[in-house]
Amino acid sequence: MSPEEFRRLGHELIDRIADYRAGVAARPVMSQVVPGSIRAALPKSAPAAPEPFAAIFADLDALILPGLSHFNHPGFFGYFPANSELSSVLGDYLSTGLGALGLTWQSAPALTELEEVVTDWMRQLVGLSDSFSGVIQDTASTATLVAMICARERASDFSLSRGGLAGLDAPLIVYGSAHAHSSVDKAALLAGFGRDNLRHVATDADYAMRPEALEAAIRADIAAGRKPAAIVASVGTTGVTAVDPVAGIAQIARTHGLWLHVDAAMAGSAMILPECRGLWAGIEGADSLVFNPHKWLGAAFDCSLYYVRDPQHLVRVMGTNPSFLRTAVDGEVTTYRDWGIPLGRRFRALKLWCLLRAEGVEGLQARLRRDLENAAWLAGEVSRAAHWRVAAPVRLQTVCIRHEPPGLTGEALDAHTLAWVEAVNRSGRAYVTPAILDGRWMVRVSIGALPTERADVEAFWALAQATVASLNRT
Ligand SMILES: *Cc1c(COP(=O)(O)O)cnc(C)c1O
Repeated sequence: MSPEEFRRLGHELIDRIADYRAGVAARPVMSQVVPGSIRAALPKSAPAAPEPFAAIFADLDALILPGLSHFNHPGFFGYFPANSELSSVLGDYLSTGLGALGLTWQSAPALTELEEVVTDWMRQLVGLSDSFSGVIQDTASTATLVAMICARERASDFSLSRGGLAGLDAPLIVYGSAHAHSSVDKAALLAGFGRDNLRHVATDADYAMRPEALEAAIRADIAAGRKPAAIVASVGTTGVTAVDPVAGIAQIARTHGLWLHVDAAMAGSAMILPECRGLWAGIEGADSLVFNPHKWLGAAFDCSLYYVRDPQHLVRVMGTNPSFLRTAVDGEVTTYRDWGIPLGRRFRALKLWCLLRAEGVEGLQARLRRDLENAAWLAGEVSRAAHWRVAAPVRLQTVCIRHEPPGLTGEALDAHTLAWVEAVNRSGRAYVTPAILDGRWMVRVSIGALPTERADVEAFWALAQATVASLNRT
């Protein structure tokens, strides 16, 4: 494709995306396609001869768009907000269009230095001290895996330079809460700790890790000859936005010399609001932490921020220095390939830079405060309505609810919950994702899609009530 063709088609493509965003409310929020239907409608093999882009656009309309659930729909209350502000989308296009590739500082000096600047901007915005250094990763899952690998190497006195985990005489142990995200277990398993050495520490009535249960688990492991290595604290769990007490956990980590990693994937964005920072009080005691601007903050996916206290430790664990990547300035610059797993890096800093500049910090703060107020409003309505319950404390923008008609318990209550969720989602007017809490299904209403205003939350609440009323009649 020539630059001139790109110019013409690119304008059309941008128009299509702008039209999509402007008109998304008219589409059903949850995709209504059945499994396999999209694959079946596509050719079995790639075309031998070139096709006009018009044919691609036609398939986009006919096949691809109906095959999406719309995160930027005003009735989207599923999973978590993943906003893709259009200002950030432009930054992402720039990254792709410029085709820059970070291998060394020299391969794209601006890629490295802008990443240093925007990670430092974000550090200040969320109130972290300058003893933290940041790097952009693809996802929180990757960042937490890196943290677990670093913790393993610190606890084992750099076993990778000898016989690895196989050469240790005592197993290394990782601690997380029973409500930690599945990526925490996955990271610990992939880092080689093994399921037997992964502890799910008990939580309190608000689903937060109990520090005294953590302390007891650590002491029991030490007494049995095992070696505690790392703790993962969750600030804002996926299910109910539970907040582990970071300060108390950090104290325990310090006492026993354990690595403390904080998973604030979703809630971290809220820390641009000074009034929310109490949620991670004690964060300065962490060795590493992650949060995802590609969730609530509005950066285009993927953009996950990983902060560490000691970047030299990352380099010591993950540094590589093959001859073809050496340059004369290596000693003076940051070499981000040594701060994570991949060698090649996308220019992800651009989409964060564009977002922060085009929206302004005040603009982002105002949007997050709007969502917090909407969540508080919904929680108030639900808690006042007969036979409805708010199932967990509302820490941020997620409201966990359940409709509990008199006489319905156990599996019958679960069936009722899943039935009204299915009916709401099938309606195309709103989308929520249920989750299990204390062994029973409940419904997470995750507020914060870009176009979601109070009227949309009101519409969801009316729809939920009308849906349970119509189920009761049948
Ligand atoms: C979303 C989320 C994750 C996983 O994020 P990815 O970036 O998709 O890997 C991990 N932990 C928490 C608490 C989350 O909310």
